[in-house]
Amino acid sequence: MATSVVPAGRSARRAAAEDEKLVFETTEGIEPVASFDEMGLKEDVLRGIYNYGFEKPSAIQQRALMPIIKGRDVIAQAQSGTGKTSMIALTACQLVDTANREVQALILSPTRELAEQTEKVITAIGENINIQVHACIGGKSVGEDIRKLEFGVHVVSGTPGRVCDMIKRRSLRTRAIRVLVLDESDEMLSRGFKDQIYDVYRYLPPELQVVLISATLPNEILEITSKFMTDPVKILVKRDELTLEGIKQFFVAVEKEEWKFETLTDLYDTLTITQAVIFCNTKRKVDWLTAKMVEFNFTVSAMHGDMPQRERDAIMSNFRLGETRVLITTDVWARGLDVQQVSLVINYDLPNNRELYIHRIGRSGRFGRKGVAINFVKSDDIRILRDIEQYYSTQIDEMPMNIGDLI
Ligand code: ADP
Ligand code: MG
Repeated sequence: MATSVVPAGRSARRAAAEDEKLVFETTEGIEPVASFDEMGLKEDVLRGIYNYGFEKPSAIQQRALMPIIKGRDVIAQAQSGTGKTSMIALTACQLVDTANREVQALILSPTRELAEQTEKVITAIGENINIQVHACIGGKSVGEDIRKLEFGVHVVSGTPGRVCDMIKRRSLRTRAIRVLVLDESDEMLSRGFKDQIYDVYRYLPPELQVVLISATLPNEILEITSKFMTDPVKILVKRDELTLEGIKQFFVAVEKEEWKFETLTDLYDTLTITQAVIFCNTKRKVDWLTAKMVEFNFTVSAMHGDMPQRERDAIMSNFRLGETRVLITTDVWARGLDVQQVSLVINYDLPNNRELYIHRIGRSGRFGRKGVAINFVKSDDIRILRDIEQYYSTQIDEMPMNIGDLI
């Protein structure tokens, strides 16, 4: 019945086709560069990129890579899964001088798992230049952080709290930092993180290059960037261009909360066709739903921010390896995490804001692959769903019976 996983070649072609259609509100004079060869990258970095499996830069990479490499401040927006975080990883490789064992690039992410993912991509692409990267994140041993940083690393990919802590202890020395990158920058500059980010920023050298990236950049965030950026190159996407054609969106009218569980169990076979992520709005709900699924003999895994980091790491690792197929989680999973086999996202609860909707459904359909998002809507949620639909000029239809065929 269901189609199998899309072979890499085909999905890459589809990605290319989708890329062509993207319209960027680009700062004038920014010309796309169609191949990695033409970017003047270090030979060893270029080799790292090709070895990693990238053949051609994506639309955002074609436009934002060169300005970043040239040292400009850059605000880069592009749809989920189109290569923004990877672009940061490869610019870090290009920008650091590995003969100098000081931290030269600092990348901040909102979650520990995302910071670790970015660390791994940098390590892989920078293999041939022997780049030293450290994921400086909460939940890990402080002693180990200090040891690693004192040994000397070129790049730190971290979460704001631990990074700030390490700077204040003088274990993370900032004087050689040339570039600060905020991945998921709208989240990093929103209420929860803003003070911590400014706290870190105060310690960084004055001639710092700043790069902001995200799939969503609401105006209120763009408005405050002038405070810490100098004449930035902007590459923006209009909100009616933000949803991907490759991700089909549906809803199931469940009327009442109590009906959601049965709806989910009815979908279980569909969930396990490849891999699926189910979003709930609270940690308690994740625990409750997980326990209930297990009680009814469904195999699921779960992750949220109240779990010990070691357990979070183990769950991530099993899910990345495909050993577990259904993950029930909170918005800790909404942004940035890249597991190519995820082809289905379920909003068991609708997200609390419009940006989260884009990020959640973007866990599927990575780099041109197909994806399906299914929203469970109670009667009083329909209004919220219609708002999302209108805001992004997208279409969210009632889920068809043959949903498995679309995955
Ligand atoms: P984003 O940050 O925009 O959501 P990521 O950087 O996480 O996107 O990339 C999404 C997926 O696409 C990853 O699996 C990554 O390896 C892959 N990818 C990124 N750039 C390229 C490229 N130029 N060619 C092929 N695959 C790519
Ligand atoms: Mg990303």
